[in-house]
Amino acid sequence: MPIFEYTCNQCKQEFEKLVFAGEEKNISCPGCNSKDVTKKMSAASFMGNSMGKCATSSPKGFS
Ligand SMILES: [Zn+2]
Repeated sequence: MPIFEYTCNQCKQEFEKLVFAGEEKNISCPGCNSKDVTKKMSAASFMGNSMGKCATSSPKGFS
């Protein structure tokens, strides 16, 4: 399951979120509901999981 770590740019809260395809742009902070959040790239979640291959083929949502 694609669980990503995020950091809220408003209240600096860090949280984990289970993100399904197409929901990357609808992530909001559980603390202040802000959508100004930054995904934390975790090397472990990519390199340690061969099932995550298809996730890297989508450049959408990362600009
Ligand atoms: Zn927040």
